[in-house]
Formats: sequence, C-alpha cells, structure tokens
Amino acid sequence: MTIFKKFQNFDLKEFIDKKEEIYGKIPLNNFDRLKSFDKNESSIVEIVINCISNHGQNFLNLTINVNLLLSCFRCLDSFDYNLTITDSYEIVRKNEPLEPHKIDNIKIELSAGFNLLEFIEDEILLSLPSSPKHEVDCIN
Ligand SMILES: [Zn+2]
Repeated sequence: MTIFKKFQNFDLKEFIDKKEEIYGKIPLNNFDRLKSFDKNESSIVEIVINCISNHGQNFLNLTINVNLLLSCFRCLDSFDYNLTITDSYEIVRKNEPLEPHKIDNIKIELSAGFNLLEFIEDEILLSLPSSPKHEVDCIN
C-alpha cells in the first residue's frame, strides 16, 4: 500500500496501539487544493507523525514542512515560502462529546478510517499567511 493510500484511510487506533512513528514524503500535487502552490511540480510535503500518551489521554503530534510558491500581494511576483507546522491534537473516543472545532485545540475523533491526508491539507491551508509578501520592500 502506498503511503498516499494509507494516509487516506488511516487506522488511528492501530497507530496509537503500536506507538508508531511515521516519516512521510508526499508530492504536493497529490493535494488537490494545494496544487496551485506547487513549484515546478516538485514540491514535497514532509510529515512526521507520532503519538504520545499523557495521563490516559492520547495526543497526535504532527509536524509538516513544505516549500510553497506564493504570490506577493504587493508586487504580485511569486516567491518561495517555507511553511513549518508543529502541533498536537487530542484524540477522543467516539462516545465522548466532541466540542466544536477550535483552531488552538483541535480534537480528532478516534475512528478506523481517518482521512489523514485531508487533515494535513486542511492544516496547511489554515496556516497560509492571509497576505503573503516579500520580506524585503519589493515596491518603492
Ligand atoms: Zn513582492
């Protein structure tokens, strides 16, 4: 099974039980909503995922690193942007009440067919700067 297929139908329970750690590299053009940020169809999304238990609670740690091509909103030229996301998500069982999504404290419901790929795509989209621009003054 390719990592792509495995991530689309991710067995979160097995992952927690086995205390697995995954290092993955997925081409950016596998993410439909991120294709427009791909640089020469060569961008790679690097992912590290592991699980920790703390006082009986399980947390998924996710690190995402990717180079994206963004458009500067000042000069409209494209530029390279390195995005790194490091976050921890609480995993809750299905019968526990699921609170509404909060950006700073996202909970993941424990189910067999979790779409990790879509989750990663959402996290990248949420982390994109709303007004990307060159670090230096590009218009004088
Ligand atoms: Zn610019």
